[in-house]
Order: sequence, then C-alpha cells, then structure tokens
Amino acid sequence: MPAQILDGAAMAEKIRQQIAQEVAQRLAEGKPAPGLATVLVGENPASQVYVKSKHKACQQVGIRSMGYELPATASQQEVMDLVKHLNDDPAVNGILVQLPLPSGLDEEKVLGAISIEKDVDGFHPINIGRLAQKGREPLFVPCTPAGCMVLIESVLPDLNGANAVVLGRSNIVGMPVALLLVRANATVTICHSRTRNLKEVCRSADVLVAAVGRAEMVRGDWVKPGAVVIDVGINRVEDATQPRGYRLVGDVAFDEVKEVAGWLTPVPGGVGPMTIAMLLQNTLRAARLSDV
Ligand code: NDP
Repeated sequence: MPAQILDGAAMAEKIRQQIAQEVAQRLAEGKPAPGLATVLVGENPASQVYVKSKHKACQQVGIRSMGYELPATASQQEVMDLVKHLNDDPAVNGILVQLPLPSGLDEEKVLGAISIEKDVDGFHPINIGRLAQKGREPLFVPCTPAGCMVLIESVLPDLNGANAVVLGRSNIVGMPVALLLVRANATVTICHSRTRNLKEVCRSADVLVAAVGRAEMVRGDWVKPGAVVIDVGINRVEDATQPRGYRLVGDVAFDEVKEVAGWLTPVPGGVGPMTIAMLLQNTLRAARLSDV
C-alpha cells in the first residue's frame, strides 16, 4: 500500500488559525500584539525569500513583524549593537537573526547575544544546551526540528523504543531533531558524511528524518516498509519544463519511497510550512512569557 502523505501545509494552517485566535484574544484583553524582529545581514537571495515569507506569515496571524537589514559589510559590533537594541525594546518579543551570516561575522557570538527570553529560533547556546541535558527545559526549541516532531507525533504519538535515524548532524536541523527524538524516548542513530553502510542503517529506521541537502538521496530500498519518513531537504534541480528553469525536490526520492513508507512528507508542502508555524508559535510563547 502506498504511503500516506503527511500534509505539513494543512497541519501548519490549523496551527496558524489557533495562533490567530489567541493573538485576537490577547488584543481583546488589551495586551499588545506579539512582536517579531528579523535581522537580515547582506543580500543572500534565499535568505531574503525566507525572511519575506516569515513577515507574511506574521501578518496573517496578527503578529507584528519588524524587519532590520544591515549590509554584508556590517561589522560584528554593528550586528551585536542591533541585537542589544532589540533585546531592550519591549515591543519586540522575538528576535530572529537569519542564517547564514556573511563570512567574517561570528555567528556563535551573535546568537549568544540574543536574550534567551527572545530566542524564538532556539539557537542560543543556553537553549540548545538545555535541549541536550536530561531534566532541563529549553525556553524555545528550534523551529524546523520542532516542526518535524509535530509531524512525526501526529502519526506516531508513542516513540518509546522506536528506532529513529537522522540523516545529517547540522546545528540547525539534524542535531536538534536527534536530541528531540531522544527526549521522546526513541533510540536514535545520527548519520553524516562519514557514516558507513548508510542504506542499511536507514533501513533499520521506524522513523527516518532526512536533512542532508542532497537531492533525492534516500531511495526506495533505503526505507523500512511502513516507516515514517520526514523529508527536510529543499534542493533545486534543473527542469527546463518549469518557468523558473528548476523545481524543488527533497532529500528523499518521493515516487520510490512513497511505495514503501507508511507516512511521507512532500517537498514542498511538508516540513517547510511547519517551520514557519513553529516560529509563530514560539513568538506567541515569547509574548506570553513577557506578560508578567
Ligand atoms: P547542512 O549542509 O548544514 O548539513 C548537512 C548534513 O548532511 C551534514 O551533517 C552532512 O554531514 C550530512 N551529509 C551531507 N552529505 C551527505 C552524504 N552524502 N551522506 C551522509 N550525510 C551527508 O544542511 P542543513 O542541515 O542546514 O539542511 C539540510 C537540508 O534541509 C537542506 O536541503 C536545507 O535546504 C534543508 N532545510 C530545510 C528547512 C525547512 O524549513 N524545510 C530548514 C532548514 C534546512 P557532515 O556533518 O559530515 O558534513
């Protein structure tokens, strides 16, 4: 039986509706709209598109968004000063510094300068550190990994003892997804570019999360029948039939894997919309935290 499609777009829409309702409720109670500040350094076209879509999503649910842009030539001090200014601004509940930063800027220092109460991307070292420690709770969980977990748990609420394989170990996706799966009591294997027998390891997974940035790398025979497969990858492949000359594909060969998996996220329309929904959710949470 072909896999059922895990529709991230539909799930994200439901979450956005709940957020919009709560924001409206807050306004009715005389509380200010939650505020998200984005910081974009340089002119990376992909980053510009991501930031724009985040502002649009905020607008749809009543979250106030403020965009700050600095040139690629901005100094470390200028970026740090902007972050500090936003930390002190009571109208800003969440601060999102769009990554990657231009070379020459110290990403770790910039992320570490964000107030942890406003760290809606969840990349502050304290939030990530808490995620990695037993019995500690991060204030915010990174958005893409959080979105993956909502998708997984919507079809597999009990991950106790499940075999989970995460392809990729980046700070943004692979590693935090793996930490979240461990917290949910799955037995987790993290794979990367040095992993041996990748196909066999993947085939042992009840839950497979692919976050490698390699177009359609995960083939049908890499997947255990019935597995839950989450495709995080967003890759451009040339396609002369498309007006833009390319199309987007995931890290999973969708047509092959859908014949084997139990559940599968599409690209686009899977993890991407969930990432933005989690950002809105984190921003609302930051506003709630600032209420008292
Ligand atoms: P990175 O490039 O930072 O990390 C890729 C990871 O995959 C690394 O750990 C790397 O291993 C591993 N890897 C690369 N090639 C192979 C290979 N041939 N075999 C095994 N492992 C390999 O990518 P990101 O984590 O930032 O992003 C991954 C994908 O997810 C990209 O396509 C990106 O566009 C997408 N993405 C999607 C988001 C969404 O909202 N849907 C959000 C963020 C990212 P090593 O560590 O050894 O180098």
